[in-house]
Amino acid sequence: MTGVAVFGAKGRMGSEVCRAVEAAEGLSLVAALDVDDDLAAAASAEVVVDFTSPDAVMRNLSWCIEHGKHAVVGTTGFTEDRLDVLRDQLAEHPGVGVLVAANFSIGAVLMMHFAAQAAAFYESVEIIELHHPNKVDAPSGTAAATARRVAAARAAAALSAPPDATTQELAGARGASVEGVRVHSVRLRGLVAHQEVLFGAEGETLTIRHDSLDRASFMPGVIAGVRAVGERPGLTIGIEQILGVG
Ligand code: NAD
Repeated sequence: MTGVAVFGAKGRMGSEVCRAVEAAEGLSLVAALDVDDDLAAAASAEVVVDFTSPDAVMRNLSWCIEHGKHAVVGTTGFTEDRLDVLRDQLAEHPGVGVLVAANFSIGAVLMMHFAAQAAAFYESVEIIELHHPNKVDAPSGTAAATARRVAAARAAAALSAPPDATTQELAGARGASVEGVRVHSVRLRGLVAHQEVLFGAEGETLTIRHDSLDRASFMPGVIAGVRAVGERPGLTIGIEQILGVG
């Protein structure tokens, strides 16, 4: 049995993670902690899952690394500077693994992977991301990450920028440009989290679409991370390598 502690256990994601850990074979929930709880209550855990807040996560991870706990981290707000701090701390504690993933949805990760594969074959590409109206940021982090991966794949394939006249003339009015890839953001009641990557060529289009309908969609990725993190000392970014698609 692998003992798992959840930080942020009363939150939307953390409470879902507690249920998923309790239901997972070979995993045991040994601590469910939220703000004001003493982290020492996680002393018997082998792996910590953190879905707290950008303000809290670095202190939580320092505690984990100092105490030899592997960590699976879904909390957002990781800058390159923060990742460097983690790398430095992990270098002093070889054997400890930390997995930081901005998106634990296996479908979303595959959508980005397939989009990067297709990008090498199409000059024309645009992204539409659609979310509930309470989402504050636009474009979404996943859309920006997809655009960066598509742009990198286009550059590697030496594809030029989209040649369509309307794309050039209407650029400002047609959503944001992320590394030359246009991203359109829709905020609408009834939506949860959705994204389409559209590719176009003479006489055909290809659309890769992903729909998140429930927070449960993140749990298989989180549980896969919990099972894998102990085998991956140091810092791992994203679940692509764990899924074998990165
Ligand atoms: P939430 O506000 O519902 O929950 C956060 C919880 O953390 C709260 O219960 C809060 O009291 C608790 N908390 C705050 N500081 C703490 C501390 N020091 N120690 C322990 N608990 C503490 O938020 P949420 O929707 O569950 O999201 C949590 C984080 O996960 C956010 O950063 C969000 O962007 C991110 N997120 C990531 C993914 C992913 O796939 N990586 C998916 C969804 C959300």
